Amino acid sequence: MRIVFLPNATRMQIQRVEELLQQLRFRYRRSHGDEGTVLGVVGDTSLLASKRVERMRGVAAVLPFTVPYKQASREYCQEGSVVQVGNVRIGGPDVVVMAGPCSVESQDGLFAVARRVKAAGATILRGGAFKPRTSPYSFQGLGREGLELLQHASREIGLAVVTEVMDTRHVEMVAQYADMLQIGARNVQNFDLLREVGASGKPVLLKRGMMTTIEEYLFCAEYILATGNEQVVLCERGIRTFDTVTRNTLDVCAVPVLKHRSHLPICVDPSHATGDWRYVIPMARAAVAAGADALMIEVHAQPEAAFSDGPQSLTPNRFDQLMREVAPIATALGRKLGRAR
Ligand code: PEP
Ligand code: MN
Repeated sequence: MRIVFLPNATRMQIQRVEELLQQLRFRYRRSHGDEGTVLGVVGDTSLLASKRVERMRGVAAVLPFTVPYKQASREYCQEGSVVQVGNVRIGGPDVVVMAGPCSVESQDGLFAVARRVKAAGATILRGGAFKPRTSPYSFQGLGREGLELLQHASREIGLAVVTEVMDTRHVEMVAQYADMLQIGARNVQNFDLLREVGASGKPVLLKRGMMTTIEEYLFCAEYILATGNEQVVLCERGIRTFDTVTRNTLDVCAVPVLKHRSHLPICVDPSHATGDWRYVIPMARAAVAAGADALMIEVHAQPEAAFSDGPQSLTPNRFDQLMREVAPIATALGRKLGRAR
């Protein structure tokens, strides 16, 4: 439910309500927006009815949520959330760029790409150590060795790391190496995994499934938020449609829709959305124009030799071009792309 305050409510009056919520051990979030000061509250709110919160000084109204997902909604928090990954802030004025290979393949390959994407302005290194492959005979990732390489590259080069975790049994291990845990499209409704990454306390990059509706997707985010972990970034990465000319169809409209319905920051992954490097730069431009807070881009020094997703990987030179072309779009919206170079 939401506790809405009168426009002239005093700090003390708001604080008294917050103290009551704390005493009763409710989870809540205070925000300021079009409706003035609002406390979004979750838990057994019938307990609060008996406390007559609506009669407390400064309170204008106590309203139920009008949407079934709660903590993920704009009703819970009117302001956009900022998620901190290492020293990178996602959801603030800067548009964050996460870039790197689809899979971690070797130390040399990873370090070479990491250096180039950092020089171009990326602040988070991506790379899979556990790969969800369509065929069990395809490269499945280097596992722990891949995590070690990611951590090594991150420390040496100065980038935060995001990497996928596919199995509840690996959450603790992956969390030791990564700054942010990625839940892949195929696992978006693996509820046990969502609970487990939530409980790790690490920031989570939650990818939309190829067949997940926006409402289902917000429920997936809610699973993580319900553990008390508020560090969730949504990621649109293309959905399956009737057209096969691209790997998936990038739902650019998901960006403003999710912004409207949720306070969580939004990343767009045009690499998996298109499956073809030729379309990655235009879709990255579109994503930032639509309001994305972050981009995730696959980059490989030799895409034709990549162990996975070569056809959609940009060369480092093409990644430089992406950064050059997207930066003025961010600037036009009063934002800045990546790290100042
Ligand atoms: C990936 O990021 O490499 C990946 C497998 O993405 P998705 O889960 O979106 O397919
Ligand atoms: Mn990939």
